[in-house]
Amino acid sequence: MAKKNEIVTVKVTDMAISGEGIGKVDGYTLFIKDTVIGDVAKVKITKVKKQYGYARLMELLEASSDRATPVCSVARQCGGCQIQALSYEKQLEFKQKKVRGSLIRVGGFDHEFVDGVMEPIIGMEAPFHYRNKAQYPVGTDKEGNLCAGFYAGRTHQIIPNLDCALGPEANRTILEKILEFMKEYHIPAYDEAAGKGLVRHVLIRCGFASGEIMVCLVLNGKKLPHSNALVEALRSIPGMESITYSVNRENTNVIMGNEICLLWGKEYITDQIGSVKYQISPLSFYQVNPVQTEALYRQALEYARLTGQETVWDLYCGIGTISLFLAKNAAKVYGVEIVPQAIEDARKNAQINGIRNAEFFVGRAEDILPEYYDRYEREHPGERVHADVIVVDPPRKGCAQSVLDTMVKMQPERIVYVSCDPATLARDLKYLCGRGYEVEKVRAVDMFPETIHVETIVSIQKKNS
Ligand code: SAH
Repeated sequence: MAKKNEIVTVKVTDMAISGEGIGKVDGYTLFIKDTVIGDVAKVKITKVKKQYGYARLMELLEASSDRATPVCSVARQCGGCQIQALSYEKQLEFKQKKVRGSLIRVGGFDHEFVDGVMEPIIGMEAPFHYRNKAQYPVGTDKEGNLCAGFYAGRTHQIIPNLDCALGPEANRTILEKILEFMKEYHIPAYDEAAGKGLVRHVLIRCGFASGEIMVCLVLNGKKLPHSNALVEALRSIPGMESITYSVNRENTNVIMGNEICLLWGKEYITDQIGSVKYQISPLSFYQVNPVQTEALYRQALEYARLTGQETVWDLYCGIGTISLFLAKNAAKVYGVEIVPQAIEDARKNAQINGIRNAEFFVGRAEDILPEYYDRYEREHPGERVHADVIVVDPPRKGCAQSVLDTMVKMQPERIVYVSCDPATLARDLKYLCGRGYEVEKVRAVDMFPETIHVETIVSIQKKNS
């Protein structure tokens, strides 16, 4: 029986969906962080459970041919990237398998069917420096020096790093200037344990197409002392358009507060995907990988098969990105989103692009859609709300059942499901496929290279009865 702290030699033969290598010692399964399939390694057992245990890499005895040298010096400690040590080709293979596995295990679809509907994953040509958004926690290191970086996996310990290999290189200069400013004016970083201090996080967003940069400090307080000096330091950075702060005095894991205060410039930046321009506020959701977002939206457009005559619903629409991308090829698009600021942006975005056939609703999709459906039935007896295509792009927990039920009642020809969690996607597909719909095509898109996350897009058709 394996014991805690025991050191064993193991060959890694599989990979967990959470990115750890899996190996067996005398039939006992170990999950080993920082190893990849094909490695032979000396590992230390850190946790023992009945069926399986966890171990830490001590020494790599034989490196797998699937390995790549991590680009980032803190790749192992930082919780941001889980699979930088895996070659990009194998990362894509891992993600394709992850989606396939969920469809089979959670969705209950059979192997042959899944292999028939899955198209090849869309990967990136250059899988680094792809993120347009970063949120750096700010704190103090063991020596008491101010630092910024990322949390270590599963903890709130800050791994100092101003050079994240996933973001733009300009982030380093911005962070250095903010830390210098804090030092000079004795502005303390937030101390999570004590609930004291001021600066909690720095949010940086960069429009890759426009070159516009936004900086938003998250504060445990209502004011930033000497903010003029910070503005002076940051405004000369090429592309800087917006400097704001957000007030968050809660003891919470939620990063941003609800209120945004302008220090300099505009309260938003603009960016462009394909030919559509978007305005983005600090609180709005905006896809973090613009190159892959365009690939994803093009796929959504292809799966939606629009001719210009259709009525389309875009549920969980954020700032209306998919809605506006589709609007030029549809008769009418309705967007639904829970964050009011995002809908304000969505409406402005429609205006900026001269799009008049898009309408947006603020609220939970699980309230708005059923209410709209019921009201329509009441006001138009004998008729039902018409939709040709419904696009959904829910957060990780997937669609609420009432959303799925209303979609089925609306009887659209097609549903295009965009998902950031293959497990809840598979659950929802199973539900829809039991109610008159069938999966036509599935495509994974690598929106988050170097991490275990994967985006999936599915085309679902109404069965001909
Ligand atoms: N389709 C958009 C946003 C997708 S992210 C894009 O591609 O950019 C998911 C969005 O769902 C977020 O904007 C989030 O605020 C929103 N959301 C979360 N829960 C929701 C709910 N219950 N009803 C409606 N929108 C919700």
